[in-house]
Amino acid sequence: MADVAGMMKDDEKYILHGWGKIPINVKYGKGALFYDENGKEYIDMLSQTAGVMGVGHSHPKIVKAVKDQVEKSTHVLTSFINEPRIEFGKKLAKVAPGRLKDNSKFYFSSGGSEANETALKLAMKATGKKEVISTYYSYHGGTLALMGLLGQSYITKGPWPKFPGFTQIGNAYCYRCMYGQTYPGCKFECARHLEWHIQYGTQGDVAAFIQEPVPGNGGHQVPPDKEYFRIIREICDKYGVLYIIDEVQTGNGRSGKWWAADYFDVSPDIFTTAKAIGGGMAVGATGIRSDLVPKDAAREDQWHIFTYGGSPIACAAGSATVDVIIEEDLPGKAARQGARMTERLTALQKESKIVGDVRSMGCFIGVEIVKDKKTKEKYIDGAGEIFGKCLDKGVFFGVSNMAGFGNVVKIKPPMTITDEETDRAMSVLEETVREVEKNV
Ligand code: PMP
Repeated sequence: MADVAGMMKDDEKYILHGWGKIPINVKYGKGALFYDENGKEYIDMLSQTAGVMGVGHSHPKIVKAVKDQVEKSTHVLTSFINEPRIEFGKKLAKVAPGRLKDNSKFYFSSGGSEANETALKLAMKATGKKEVISTYYSYHGGTLALMGLLGQSYITKGPWPKFPGFTQIGNAYCYRCMYGQTYPGCKFECARHLEWHIQYGTQGDVAAFIQEPVPGNGGHQVPPDKEYFRIIREICDKYGVLYIIDEVQTGNGRSGKWWAADYFDVSPDIFTTAKAIGGGMAVGATGIRSDLVPKDAAREDQWHIFTYGGSPIACAAGSATVDVIIEEDLPGKAARQGARMTERLTALQKESKIVGDVRSMGCFIGVEIVKDKKTKEKYIDGAGEIFGKCLDKGVFFGVSNMAGFGNVVKIKPPMTITDEETDRAMSVLEETVREVEKNV
């Protein structure tokens, strides 16, 4: 049996954590469950990191694909052509959102940050422009440049520079509208603000607008209607701004459709994906409409390299993940489990003093915890307490106050979760909310 106290000591001495620390020694996982060294079982309602284990822990098809590939080759220089990479590109092009379907080219990388860095460079090359607009509450990655896109609290505000020309507009956060409006009377002022911002808040040199369809780290603010996205698309087209959709969290079935972009009928110019698409392996992908590929990128010029971009193992895992999502109809499963959870959560919201808002889109759900439903004062400690108590009871939810932003309990389990596991997790959450609200 592992000496967890000893491990904690060594961890303290040798390991840097950048996103909080949880004193549990995770040994293995299967499906929607994972286990510590004592065999204690946890339901993984976060899929580890915000949806990564979308197809479930140790899915046999992913395990086999990786093992088979390791026997053949583990790494090839990105300049070589490579079968697993081409295969993965073909498969992703077939399911790509909007006008990218069967009309996109991919650069593969090792995660969401690299995928977004690639997207920004492509947009700048394609347009010859340098500014980028994102939204409040967004998270696009942890590199220095991407930090300038984040609309979040303290992680943005470290002692690092903000990349010049990267600015933000408010997002569609109807529960706390930044424009003092109420849907549907608002006429989507949050979307229309993009035009004013391009005109008055930039130097008129905007290459791209980048957005998560629903901010994952920022609190799951689901835009109320596809009209929001239609307006954004129209403004991007009017000003020659490329529209980048970041599907790192929302993609690969989680929303109830392949992409959240499909859910809202959005046709981006560039999209990025990572997390679940690797089935647990480090995979990022940037897809761009083929007709937008900048000329020198098309010439395979030396415009970009990540050494592990499109590694055979990553691509074999990615290909197998696409197959699993299709074969097991994971978007359909995500929609069904999402509806099952939402029914219970909205009932809980009605009876609870501290559940202010429930926002769901398939298996992508945010539960906003407040001290007072009238004032909507954020109950950050309360959300933290719910997280800790549920973890003790063997259910791992996400919470944005642990690291990141706010007072939202996040629910994004593997899409393969069973009814019994979903129901058990919901019962623990309901019971815990009732315990925590006694303090208010
Ligand atoms: N985009 C979004 C929407 C994300 O949630 C994340 C990670 N939380 C990233 C990009 C960055 O991905 P990675 O951590 O794999 O670099």
